[in-house]
Amino acid sequence: MKLTEIFEKNKLSLSFEVFPPKNDTAFESVKHATEEIAKLKPSFMSVTYGAGGGTSKYTLDIAKNIKQTYGVPTLAHLTCVSSTKDTVKQRIEDIKAAGIENVMALRGDIPSELEGTDRSKWDYTHAVELVRELRESCADFCIGAACYPEIHPESSNQREDIKYLKEKVDAGCAFLTTQMFFDNNLLYNFLYKIREAGITVPIIPGIMPITNANQVERAVKLSGSFVPQRFKALVDKFGDTPDAMKQAGIAYATDQIIDLFANGITNVHVYSMNKPDVAEAIRNNLSDIIGK
Ligand code: FAD
Repeated sequence: MKLTEIFEKNKLSLSFEVFPPKNDTAFESVKHATEEIAKLKPSFMSVTYGAGGGTSKYTLDIAKNIKQTYGVPTLAHLTCVSSTKDTVKQRIEDIKAAGIENVMALRGDIPSELEGTDRSKWDYTHAVELVRELRESCADFCIGAACYPEIHPESSNQREDIKYLKEKVDAGCAFLTTQMFFDNNLLYNFLYKIREAGITVPIIPGIMPITNANQVERAVKLSGSFVPQRFKALVDKFGDTPDAMKQAGIAYATDQIIDLFANGITNVHVYSMNKPDVAEAIRNNLSDIIGK
């Protein structure tokens, strides 16, 4: 099923993100975790992609298994910046062969070995090139891309970031998923600006439940997200008590999601990080809101 068909229903729903294993040894435990999340019947599940391509096979294996065994629509991520044209072409054929219709087209973070090298020699410099390639290779793909309510860390200003985002959507994106954020007002301001810029596709907010204190630093470093005082106070108070921190982090994410639903968002994507217990707790907190 194409994700756009789900979004068109305008039904309050949750989707979950999982990541593939890095090697064969971890495959079974990751597969099990993703199956436990699939049993929660999310609207869809996304499976991330290792930027260097190392986990590319597992992305499709996991996505295919969730779709075939649990009937949950899947979204396979694909990155391009550290890949050659031939590799990307092959990955696209693999996605088609796996029967996956939904693809998240990403640039990926620039690997250290490419930093400072001549960009004109790279096969890909931005996600828009991958969107175009996916669109040309299969008119039927439902293509998504990333967007950044607090601007992408490489962008010098939001106006420019939104200009390039519009270019990416016009190249053939059917929806956008946001980077994590911890203050919903940042998302509402962003929505206002992108709608004004003529971007009309569905926006799927991404919410990251922070369930341990170490995760905060990592997540913020990676995303550059603003951490509100309300959230900092919670980490200060409960950060040293793992069970309490987990409960508080789940409550904070739930609160963000309820506010998003109350303000017109219908599908929220949860960065569930292969943690079925966290996904289930959030799902249960919302059982009367999204239905059992
Ligand atoms: P782009 O859209 O190319 O944007 C990157 C920067 O370039 C921005 O500053 C943008 O404004 C600018 N830009 C865009 N187009 C142009 C242009 N034509 N000319 C000049 N500047 C331009 N990473 C992974 O490795 N695997 C994953 O599975 C993965 N999943 C993700 C899912 C989501 C929802 C998000 C938000 C991020 C994900 N990432 C993933 C991280 C992502 O790869 C990085 O954030 C990366 O740095 C940018 O990717 P992008 O697709 O947004 O790039």
